[in-house]
Amino acid sequence: MAKQPMLKFVTVERDMPEKRAAEARREDFHEIYAEYADAKAKEQASRCSQCGVPYCQSHCPLHNNIPDWLRLTAEGRLQEAYQVSQATNTFPEICGRICPQDRLCEGNCVIEQSGHGTVTIGAVEKYITDTAWEEGWVEPIAPAQERADSVGIIGAGPGGLAAADVLRRAGVQVTVYDRYDRGGGLLTYGIPGFKLEKDVVMRRMEQLEQGGVEFVLNCDVGKDIQFEEIRNKHNAVLIATGVYKSRDLQGPGSGAKGIVKALDYLTASNRLCFGDKVPEIESGELNAEGKRVVVIGGGDTAMDCVRTAIRQGATSVKCLYRRDRENMPGSQREVQNAEEEGVEFLWLSAPKGFAGDPVTAVKVQQMRLGQPDATGRQSPEPIEGAEHDEPADLVIKALGFEPEELPTLWNQEELEVTRWGTIKADFTTGQTSMPGVFAVGDIVRGASLVVWAIRDGRDSAAAILDHLNAAQSVAAE
Ligand SMILES: Cc1cc2nc3c(=O)[nH]c(=O)nc-3n(C[C@H](O)[C@H](O)[C@H](O)COP(=O)(O)OP(=O)(O)OC[C@H]3O[C@@H](n4cnc5c(N)ncnc54)[C@H](O)[C@@H]3O)c2cc1C
Ligand code: SF4
Repeated sequence: MAKQPMLKFVTVERDMPEKRAAEARREDFHEIYAEYADAKAKEQASRCSQCGVPYCQSHCPLHNNIPDWLRLTAEGRLQEAYQVSQATNTFPEICGRICPQDRLCEGNCVIEQSGHGTVTIGAVEKYITDTAWEEGWVEPIAPAQERADSVGIIGAGPGGLAAADVLRRAGVQVTVYDRYDRGGGLLTYGIPGFKLEKDVVMRRMEQLEQGGVEFVLNCDVGKDIQFEEIRNKHNAVLIATGVYKSRDLQGPGSGAKGIVKALDYLTASNRLCFGDKVPEIESGELNAEGKRVVVIGGGDTAMDCVRTAIRQGATSVKCLYRRDRENMPGSQREVQNAEEEGVEFLWLSAPKGFAGDPVTAVKVQQMRLGQPDATGRQSPEPIEGAEHDEPADLVIKALGFEPEELPTLWNQEELEVTRWGTIKADFTTGQTSMPGVFAVGDIVRGASLVVWAIRDGRDSAAAILDHLNAAQSVAAE
């Protein structure tokens, strides 16, 4: 009988791919985790208990067949593992790198609950697809038959791209419009290279382009082209524009020079990594080099800013957050990475105002956690008299994002939005209040995750295909 390759969690310990030393990673924007060697990937995959009810799968937004591709990896059947993995996920190597696995698949791994470390699902997923790229198993998009109908997608982030992939494979003519000069959305200009190297995103862009997806870049819908024009040109439209309006800070001095928005800061840094000329970095406006940096916020964007500032050569980097470590929205894994790289966290600290113009200090109000609010989270409240000045030459605001007012910007009053300004759309189909117009990703959910945008894009593409088929049937009658 063949030897059982699985259930090794009792004898084999959890082992993540090697993490580069903090001293080395402070110096560049390369990813911090190395790739598994083949034997290590097999060994780690073999720890899966193949439990009857895989909670990892049900807690993965894409319902990936995780136990199946772990078993195939452990058996050395990597190409089959890749086939299973890519059947449910458009960009498995991207999710393997940047999903908050501790809150999703790995956070629900049964062997973790029995006291053994979780299976390293994300790292194995990344390994499978990176190998598939190296081995040439990632096939170009080649529709069996071309269709005459077309779909216009506004936004080349993960939501729009996942939909483009599904539609193009079905033979639909797809045009993606984006206001940036490169596709990828926040994968390209938000998330830094130390979490997701840019060539990983760009090779997906090339794959889509080679498969016949047309990209119209540097095209801001509402300015360079009107929404109505796109709607008239295509049989259906998908809105996947994400959320880009930064939440702002109030308080005396908040308009001072040297106080900048997180996304402006990260975009400039990402552009530099592409080799672009970035005047705001050259002038120092969006450059942390030689500066005392304070980042305000406790989410993943704040974590990306503090770690970028370290790599730019800041003299000190501090993160100001009004709650404590246990109650921050950002991933604990990222906080640990940031601390290793030299970031200091000032918990229970809120900005009250700013001194100087250009800024010289943040006026910090010390907080404590009070009674839980309606959501069950303890509300921070100020401790009277507990204030101090935190010296700063660059302050980065990372307080989250809200949707732009699309109905007004695009002159589409018919496009219904929620009271938060996100587009009202059916959660499974993405159908909006306008016939033939669909919406997915952050513009529907509010600031969320890449894996949810992919899920939405795939689901909505299926619904768009139904819509196109129904329209064809009516035309044929
Ligand atoms: C700094 C940062 C770090 C993050 N880190 C992670 C992480 O580690 N893991 C994770 O899962 N998620 C992370 N996220 C969240 C994740 O990036 C988003 O949830 C995801 O990208 C949303 O996908 P999307 O396709 O809806 O929108 P986006 O990725 O925002 O793409 C929208 C696209 O639409 C384009 N667009 C917008 N308006 C127009 C217009 N009028 N005309 C033409 N084009 C337009 C934009 O240029 C953009 O390219 C992070 C977010 C930020 C800001
Ligand atoms: S897509 Fe994300 S949640 Fe799903 S298995 Fe991969 S890493 Fe886990």
